[in-house]
Amino acid sequence: MSKPHTTTTAPVLRSIEAKSPIWHPFTQMQTAAPPLKVVRGYGEILELENGKRLVDLISSWWVNIHGHAHPDIAKAIYDQALQLEHVIFAGFTHEPAEKLAVAVLSYLPANSGRVFFSDNGSTAVEAALKIACQFWWNQGQNRTKFITFNRGYYGDTIGAMSLGAVSEWWSPFRSLMFSVDTVSFPATFQNDPDVEEKEHQSIREIVTLFKQNPHHYAAIFIEPLVQGVGGMHMCRPQFLETLEKAAHEHDVLLIYDEVMTGFGRTGDWFACLKAKTNPDIVCLSKGLSGGFLPLALTITTDRVYQAFLSNDHQKAFLHGHSYTANPLACAAALASFRLLEENSNLFKTMEQKHRRFIELWLDEHPRVKQMRICGTIAAFKVDSQESDYFHQLGPWLKEKFIEKGVLIRPLGNTIYLMPPYCISDENLELGYRAIREVLDELEQ
Ligand SMILES: *Cc1c(COP(=O)(O)O)cnc(C)c1O
Repeated sequence: MSKPHTTTTAPVLRSIEAKSPIWHPFTQMQTAAPPLKVVRGYGEILELENGKRLVDLISSWWVNIHGHAHPDIAKAIYDQALQLEHVIFAGFTHEPAEKLAVAVLSYLPANSGRVFFSDNGSTAVEAALKIACQFWWNQGQNRTKFITFNRGYYGDTIGAMSLGAVSEWWSPFRSLMFSVDTVSFPATFQNDPDVEEKEHQSIREIVTLFKQNPHHYAAIFIEPLVQGVGGMHMCRPQFLETLEKAAHEHDVLLIYDEVMTGFGRTGDWFACLKAKTNPDIVCLSKGLSGGFLPLALTITTDRVYQAFLSNDHQKAFLHGHSYTANPLACAAALASFRLLEENSNLFKTMEQKHRRFIELWLDEHPRVKQMRICGTIAAFKVDSQESDYFHQLGPWLKEKFIEKGVLIRPLGNTIYLMPPYCISDENLELGYRAIREVLDELEQ
C-alpha cells in the first residue's frame, strides 16, 4: 500500500477540525462561537480539550441526573451489551424492559398500568397524542382536538410542535402544524399576590372550552409544576388538582408531559406524585436513563389501555420505532433507577440548598425578579428595561459563565439552575456566585 502523498497528517487534521461538517442543534452556525470540545465528564464536571473544567449546572440539557459517566450505569450497559444488545420488540420482550416497566410503575399513581417504549421526549409525546386520539376513535368518537398551555413545550417533531406554543422559531412550519386551543398557564413565583386569580382564570378558560365543545377534545396536555423550555415557569400543585377535577368531570384525558419533571426533578419522584394527581397518560424521557442513552416511556392507565383491546387488528396501537425498548438503554435506565432509589435524599434536599444560596447571593438584588424554586430547579427573571436587551445579551452571558467555569444557559431573560443531584455544595455555590458576579457587572 502506498502512503498518502502528505508526509505529515497534522495540518490536514487541523483543517478538518476548523471545517467540521457538523450542523449543531439550536445554533446559528454563521455567527455562533465554535463549539467547545469536551473530552471527559465525571460527576458534575465537564472537562474541555484545553484542560478547563466546567461545572455542569444544567445537567447537559436536563438529562444527567447523577452527573457524568457514573460507573454503575457504564457497567450496566457493558454487561448488557455482552448479553443482548437489541431485539425487535414486537412479538419479543426482554428482562431489562420488563424490570424497568415494573420499577417505574411502582412510583407512579396506582391507576397507571401500561408502559409503551420509544426513544426520546418528542416521540413519547407523539405516542401520547396518537394514543389519546385513538382511545376515542376505538370507542366510536372522532375527537382530534387538544388543549395546551401558553408557553408550553413538548418537543420538536411536527405533532409535538403543534402542541407547543413556544415561539416564532416555528413560523416556517406553521402550515404543517395542526391547530390546538391554548389556555393561560398560571405561572407563579415567590410572594406572588395574584396566584389564585391566575389559577381561577386558567380553569375558567379550560371549562369554557369544554362547555363550548363537548365531546370535541381528546386530551389536555400540561408540563406539570414546571414548564421547561418556555422559561422555567412554575405552577402550584393545587392547580394540578383543580385541573384534574375539571378534565375528569368533562371526560377529557389528562396528559402529563413529565419528560423534564420526572425522576426527582421537582423534589419528588414525579410531579404527579408531588401534586397527588392521577393523569391518564404520562410521558417520560430525559432523566430516565441517567443521561446515557436515548429512551422514553409513554405510560397509560388501564382504562386507556383497555380501549385498544379487540379482535380487530385496526384497534391495536400500530406505532413503533426501530430502537423501541433497546436493551442497552433499558439497562442504563434500570441502573439509573437504582441509584435514584439509593440517593433519593439528594433530590429531596436540594430545594433547601437552593434556598440557602439564593438568600446568601441573590436576595434583594435589584436585577432578580420572580424567583421560583421547585425541588432541584431554581429560576428567576433578570430585570431589564429594554425588551430586546436579552436577545443580544444571551451570547455574552453564556460566554461570561463559561469564563467563570460554569455551564449555565439562560432561556431568554430567565436564568435557571438545574444541576445533577450529586453536585457538591461548593460547586452549587460556585454557580450562585457566578450569577451574582454577572448580575453585578450588568449593574455597572
Ligand atoms: C425536552 C422536552 C421534550 C422533548 O424531548 P426530546 O428528547 O428533546 O425530544 C418534550 N417535553 C418536555 C417537557 C421537554 O422538556
